[in-house]
This record gives sequence, structure tokens and C-alpha cells, in this order.
Amino acid sequence: MHNINSLLSEFENIASNPRKQLDKILSEGKKAIGVMPYLCPEELVLAAGMVPFGIWGAETQVSEAKRYFPAFICSILQTTLELGIRGAYDGLSAIMIPFACDSLKCMGTNWKYGVKTIPVIDVAYAQNRSSQAGIEFSVSQFKKIAGSLAQIAQREISSEDVKEAILVYNRNRAALRAFSKAAAQHPEAVRPGQRCDVIKAGYFMPRDEHTALVEKLTAALDSLPPAKQDCLRIVTTGIIADSPALLKILAENNMCIADDQIAHESIFFREDTPLTDDPYVGMARRIGNIQGCSILFDPGKKRAAMLASLAKEAQADGVLYIQTKFCDPEEFDYVPVKKVMHSAGIPMLMVEVDQQMSSFEQARSAVETFAEILRQKRL
Ligand code: SF4
Repeated sequence: MHNINSLLSEFENIASNPRKQLDKILSEGKKAIGVMPYLCPEELVLAAGMVPFGIWGAETQVSEAKRYFPAFICSILQTTLELGIRGAYDGLSAIMIPFACDSLKCMGTNWKYGVKTIPVIDVAYAQNRSSQAGIEFSVSQFKKIAGSLAQIAQREISSEDVKEAILVYNRNRAALRAFSKAAAQHPEAVRPGQRCDVIKAGYFMPRDEHTALVEKLTAALDSLPPAKQDCLRIVTTGIIADSPALLKILAENNMCIADDQIAHESIFFREDTPLTDDPYVGMARRIGNIQGCSILFDPGKKRAAMLASLAKEAQADGVLYIQTKFCDPEEFDYVPVKKVMHSAGIPMLMVEVDQQMSSFEQARSAVETFAEILRQKRL
């Protein structure tokens, strides 16, 4: 357990000090590229010999960004722009911003005005993403992005470079999938907040280094004797669950994360990039293969059925819908997801979170009540 605790502390330290991590990358003479959600082609950054640096906002109060965004834009974008204006990302050579939702469509322009020192690389991929035309469109976009990255890195990006980078990412995704399973088997060793830190740390460090640490942790978890499974098993869904206060409330109510359908977590690592002769095609296919995410076109709302299967496979007691405040795509999905959970007999609670939130008392009461209902259901 000592080894596990020291590894978990290392992940926590990395996850809670992104600026320190960025300074470390820069001090090693490497260039770093900011990567905003969702599904930016990070492999191309690595293929260009640079380090992708994940940007998902942070818990902070917003003042400067209010000059650019109305108050009802999600806190991921508000806090990211705020931190950009305050200089928290100084040193990045560029930032990749996708057009994944209506709010993100304004982000690139606001960033260009608010943070003039860090240029924007626009990221687009097809919404009809698995059709032949969609694949071709995404490939053309990825090649354009590779051109911009090559200019910043001042070197060519070959197909072999991209293929090698894909292998690094696939190995990282496999390591995270194995960790997620091991953590669900050992809730006595990995609390919800620690699970989040392990995944989050990967956004702030070179992926191969992250993989090595995650593999070490998983091996240590796998060597533990089987744990008593008396916690309430929860599957989380949403955009991001990186809310230390909420995750602490889950732990206090003896809840563990059995699996997730969260963009910041499993949606990043559930699908590998297929290995194809033209690596850009594989990257485009991966986007086509990803399902269950509110920002990706999902006719028929398959997300809901996927979530029900995930909850059943994970033998979950219930589902926690973590609604990012002012996130339209998630609000639209809530009703169909709720209907499917209801007909599948899976209890679900929705909790609204916000990176500017200071009081979690309402969430605490809701989680406590939900935990009580789940315990009663088990009897
Ligand atoms: S999908 Fe939602 S949380 Fe993500 S950037 Fe758009 S509005 Fe914000």
C-alpha cells in the first residue's frame, strides 16, 4: 500500500500543479502546444517533437474573461480564457481550439483578441465522422494542422513520426483502461478524487512518462488481495468530473467509480487509433469510432443505451450525471438519457457543477439522499 500511496501522491502533485509541469517541459528546451477539449489531434504535436498540454479550465474566479463572454457560457471556457489573459499559459507555442460546440466556436476568436501572445490553431473534424466523406474531410483538416505544427516546430512531420506518436497514445490509452478497471476493483486503495488525478495528470506531462507511471500503479493495484466490495458502485457521465469537492462528497458517502462515460476521462481513452497505412486515416477513423459523447453527432442518442450497458457491465448501483453548468450539449442529452435509465431500472442523479462553484451543500444533500436510496435498493 505504501508504494500505491506514494504513486497516488505523485499523480496528485502533477494534476494540481499544471504550471509547474509546463515550466518543467519548457526548461527541458521542449515546445508545448495547448490542447483544448475535445479530441484534438494530439498525436501530431508529439509527431512534431513537441509536448501536448491539456487545457480544461480550472477552479478559479472569472473577471477578465467577462469582457469577452456572456455570463452563461460554461466555466471551462470562461476559466480557460481568464487564465490565458492572466498569463497562466505563457510559454505555450500555440493552442489548439476545436469548433466542437456553439460556445467553442466563439472561443478561438475571443482567444485571438484576449491572448495575443499565444496563436490559435483551429481544429475541425467532420460531424458525419464515419462516412467516407467525413473521413476525407477530417484527414484534410489533420494534414492542415500538421502543416501549422511543422512550421512551429521548424521540422517536417513524416508519416513514420505520426505512426510512432499513435503507438505512444495507444499505449497510454491501454494503460488508462487497465488502471480504470483496477481502480474499480480496489476502491479501498483509490478514492474517486485520486482516480481523477491519475487520469488528469496525463494532460500535463509527456504521454510516455504518464504511461510508465500508470502501468506501475496498475501493477501495484493488481497485486493487492481482492477487496471487500461494500461501496456503492457508480458510473459517472458528462464532460468533466474534475471537481475535488464533489468527488470528496462521493467518497464520504462510500461511493466508488465503477466506470465512466466522461469526455475528460474514458472518452479520451476508450478507443484506440486504428493502425492504417496512412496514419491520418486511422486518426480520422478513431474520431468516427467514438460514441457516447454529447459533443459528437449522435443521431438516435445512442449515448443513453451505451450508458445503460456500461452501468450493467460494471454492476453499478446507479449513474451520476455530472452536468457542467451552461453546457447545452449536455443539457440536450439529459432527457433521453434519463428516459433510458428509467426504463432500464437504473437509478440516476443529476448534479450540476461549475469550476467557479464555492458551495457544494446542495450537491451534498442530493448525493446523500441518492446514496441512501441506493443502499435501500440493495437490501
Ligand atoms: S461542450 Fe459544454 S462544457 Fe464543453 S466547451 Fe461546449 S459548452 Fe463548454
